[in-house]
Amino acid sequence: MPRQTSTILQLRQISKHYGEVRAVDGVDLEIPAGICFGLLGPNGAGKTTLIEIAEGIQAPTQGEVLFQGAARTAATNARMGIMFQSTALLDFMSVAETLAAFRRLYDHGADLEDLSALCHLSEIAGRRTTDLSGGQRQRLLLALALVNRPELVFLDEPSTGLDPQARHNLWAIIEDIKSQGKTIVLTTHYMEEAEHLCDTIAIMDRGRIIANGTVDQLLKAHCPEVGISIPIPATAGRAMPPDLPSHEHNGRVKFLASDLNRGLNLLLANGFDLSELQVHPPNLESVFLNLTGRHLRE
Ligand code: ATP
Repeated sequence: MPRQTSTILQLRQISKHYGEVRAVDGVDLEIPAGICFGLLGPNGAGKTTLIEIAEGIQAPTQGEVLFQGAARTAATNARMGIMFQSTALLDFMSVAETLAAFRRLYDHGADLEDLSALCHLSEIAGRRTTDLSGGQRQRLLLALALVNRPELVFLDEPSTGLDPQARHNLWAIIEDIKSQGKTIVLTTHYMEEAEHLCDTIAIMDRGRIIANGTVDQLLKAHCPEVGISIPIPATAGRAMPPDLPSHEHNGRVKFLASDLNRGLNLLLANGFDLSELQVHPPNLESVFLNLTGRHLRE
């Protein structure tokens, strides 16, 4: 029997207008429980506005948000946690004191020892919040988002500004949180982060969802071609196969093939030396750029 998945969060025909600006323009989304859902989009796409509506921080101009099939209430809001991009922390408090202060706001909050262990904070429990590195601060903000034992956690660009080690460390914690059965809604500008963490990804642009699916589904639908490159000298004196589009980049000729086997056979049939061949599979960034364009938005 296939596992039944229930919808934890449903956005129905959400719009938000600021005067003439349609920041969010008729968005429908269903987020199944227990997944990590990623929302991507260029600057100004409407992600923050949409997520703030989902979080209950902003009211939509139109539409409704359902949590587990029902309109949200103060009680359902308490089952959600939010990690904001920036949160003011009291600088005279330690990590442990900050966690305890937030924990006191809830009757049935998290066990602070478990939470500190989960977010790798135990060793810095006594450190003042002013003395934390970027990664440590993000781990504390993540712990604060979990202090009420939420079923649904919103993470708004959680790893912005972190170095690769700190980012991978945060990803490992997010995976641990997911393995506890919690649902995660993540906004990010890092394609690698979305590919690494998200089961389903929605791409938003100009207030609308323009694509939605797993990474594989998005690749198949929006970026089906694979790149094959060989050094320019390896093509010397050979005719380019007409049905294999190509361009030169960084000293190599890059061919775009809709079928890798066929592309390789065409190159071999045309006598190209493939000994220094490289294959460039499409990735989420290619999907993102194909869908949202490559021009800088001002
Ligand atoms: P970024 O990735 O840069 O954070 P975003 O995808 O989160 O962008 P939003 O911040 O939701 O985008 O903004 C969407 C659009 O709505 C933008 O054109 C923005 O200028 C506009 N907007 C957002 N908030 C307001 C506001 N309070 N008043 C007027 N316009 C706003």
